[in-house]
Amino acid sequence: MGSIETTKKPHAVCIPYPAQGHINPMLKLSKLLHFKGFHITFVNTEFNHKRLLKSRGPHSLDGLPDFRFKTIPDGLPTSDLDATQDIPSLCDSTTKTCLPHFRELLYKLNDPVSSNGPPVTCIVSDGVMSFTLKAAEEFGVPEVLFWTPSACGFLGYTKYKDLVEKGLIPLKDASYLTNGYLETTIDWIQGMENVRFKDLPSFIRTTDPNDLMVNFVLQETEAALKASAIILNTFDAFEKPVLESLSSFLPPIYTLGPLQLLVNQVSDERLKSMHSNLWKEESQCIDWLDTKKPNSVLYVNFGSITVMTPKQLEEFAWGLANSGNDFLWIIRPDLVVGESAMLPPEFVTKTEGRGILANWCPQEKVLKHEAIAGFLTHSGWNSTLESVCGGVPVICWPFFAEQQTNCWFSCYEWGIGMEIDSDVRREEVEKLVRELMKGEKGKEMKLKAMEWKKKAEAATSAGGSSYRNLEKLVSEATQQPP
Ligand code: UDP
Repeated sequence: MGSIETTKKPHAVCIPYPAQGHINPMLKLSKLLHFKGFHITFVNTEFNHKRLLKSRGPHSLDGLPDFRFKTIPDGLPTSDLDATQDIPSLCDSTTKTCLPHFRELLYKLNDPVSSNGPPVTCIVSDGVMSFTLKAAEEFGVPEVLFWTPSACGFLGYTKYKDLVEKGLIPLKDASYLTNGYLETTIDWIQGMENVRFKDLPSFIRTTDPNDLMVNFVLQETEAALKASAIILNTFDAFEKPVLESLSSFLPPIYTLGPLQLLVNQVSDERLKSMHSNLWKEESQCIDWLDTKKPNSVLYVNFGSITVMTPKQLEEFAWGLANSGNDFLWIIRPDLVVGESAMLPPEFVTKTEGRGILANWCPQEKVLKHEAIAGFLTHSGWNSTLESVCGGVPVICWPFFAEQQTNCWFSCYEWGIGMEIDSDVRREEVEKLVRELMKGEKGKEMKLKAMEWKKKAEAATSAGGSSYRNLEKLVSEATQQPP
């Protein structure tokens, strides 16, 4: 672009929530804003900054003169650089400790002596970092909130207030978790009629009236009302009724998804090479996939936060082994609770030559690879969208947060998924993998996934809904006040 003079450039400060599934889409959005002529300051936590330097190399965060990386502390004690931070603790500590550090950073960025960039003109903050709204108000700049979950997950969160008022959460006692109550249909949420209670974002599963995550969701969804605009990483055709429902009570919503496709507009090689993986990618996975036939491999990955018991790991292992299919299985070093992941030696022998294991992979590349036939996923929103972009159907094993909602939509609205019971058993894994790879239902799901892929491409191509929304957002954000 380069049409806006450097000194007069609009300056967006982009601050993700400090977890993998939030940093990735925020970096993509920041690249797009840079491409559209913005000066960018991207704010990581000190902890994640260190992790990124470790996984991506010492110069990976050097940035560019008009795309800089800055840090603030997250307020948590230093911990293992290879492990995911505890999410409730992180929510609590960002809420309580980050504002003064963020404010100080904004002062520095606006100081003509110490900063050699243009003054800050807007803040683009993760939806669950709403302390930033206070700073935006103090500095007199607009703030756009980027909610990184699906629109359906976000809608679920916005209904926590009603659930509390209706006396549905907290649950009366622990028996409600197992007595069939969670199977009850909730029919009063416009845009997601017929979901079951258990399909709503998982923090509802509490008996504690002071539950930290429920209170956090209440606080952050209330704050969403104060944003100048809200960005979602989805596309209109995919979540239309949900988006209509959200639009009836929230600030203007800009759907810019899948950002993964929209960001293809960015041609600058320096930007293209900026990545945000907190673990080191093992690219030999791609070499291995290159040796496989089209549509022949099951990809298994549970994202950056999911944990499971050794028993669950074993059930998945035997399910995969007994399915007889080729697979690529990513086992994060901290995937198994309490200990390092130990797979039965017989599993390794049985799957030799047709299975490959790794700690972390370049997932977007994997899901675009023609060898991939299906994805056994935890239904994280980025993973779901990346699967749609690859036209890959899914088997869902949701872990927490809005993954349950994504799973329900994948299975019952979008027609691209089948669900595995949370109490995973090897027989069910085997059956669903066989069905996905070779069965009739698998074929139908593949067709649906290919349809959504085309629609996602249309939404992000010139004239498509997400493409137009980006133009509109940029034009509104760069308009001079009268
Ligand atoms: N990811 C990756 N390689 C891996 C596992 C995950 O690149 O081996 C990326 C994935 O592409 C996605 C993100 O990490 O962008 C995970 O986000 P998601 O919302 O799917 O799940 P979360 O980690 O937040 O549970």
